[in-house]
Amino acid sequence: MSKPKSHKAIEAMTYLYKKHLNPLYIIILMKFLKQYILALALFLGSYQSFAWGEKGHNLVAQVAFNYLDANTKKIVLEYLDGMTIQEAANWMDNIKSDKKYDYMRKLHYINADKGQNIVSNEEENIVATITKTITELKNYKALPKQEVKIKICILFHLIGDLHQPLHVGYGEDKGGNSFQINFYGKGTNLHAFYDSGIIEYKGLTLPECLNAKKFTKEELLEIEKIDVVTWANQSRSHLKSIYNINDRKLDDRYVDNNYSIIKEQILKAGIRLSSSLEKIFIE
Ligand SMILES: [Zn+2]
Repeated sequence: MSKPKSHKAIEAMTYLYKKHLNPLYIIILMKFLKQYILALALFLGSYQSFAWGEKGHNLVAQVAFNYLDANTKKIVLEYLDGMTIQEAANWMDNIKSDKKYDYMRKLHYINADKGQNIVSNEEENIVATITKTITELKNYKALPKQEVKIKICILFHLIGDLHQPLHVGYGEDKGGNSFQINFYGKGTNLHAFYDSGIIEYKGLTLPECLNAKKFTKEELLEIEKIDVVTWANQSRSHLKSIYNINDRKLDDRYVDNNYSIIKEQILKAGIRLSSSLEKIFIE
């Protein structure tokens, strides 16, 4: 008489358990997996500490091109010389591994203590660099083409970064980079979560950014004014809600509260990039 099927299954499972799932085997496997997961987390962590994340920068460029007049668009694309606007917007992050550009690392941000405003200064930081780049680009006809191209890339990227409030944040936690948080069991830092975590989680799209807020004509004129220090302090005003965190644990309510800030900041960044480019390349 043959054994019933269920009996056979139990026998097979016991065999598998004895052969492969003995405690020593599991301990070795766990050790190996732990190392692998740790390495992956470290890699992702360093990757995500880039500003806004690739998607956020793409959206800023796309919003800008949505607002830009046809003539300026044509000039900008000519200088980009085959580079896409998305590539231009991410260039400053993509060259971070090239030592030649190490001097650019401190240009992505500016810090100030809690309770203080950003003021303009001559140091190498995001505010001074945007202001300087706009002024220098106004003289674009006298500059070598390659230099104009790089300055356009700098403007695309840094106007985006400036509107990520943690790029104009507090020095004490390196703009949220050393502020560890937890999102439903996953650990990351606040800066990375704001750069790309929320954007990826919600699947942010271009139409969502474009419709984030309807501005009146007067409001739009005010937003378009080139005043980098004011842009920085407006961005900084969102830090209060960003740091409104209980016990370093973030949830959907936190994400939803901050999602509207992110959408509006990307919209404003795009509008301001567009108005800056129009003022630079006006014929
Ligand atoms: Zn950046």
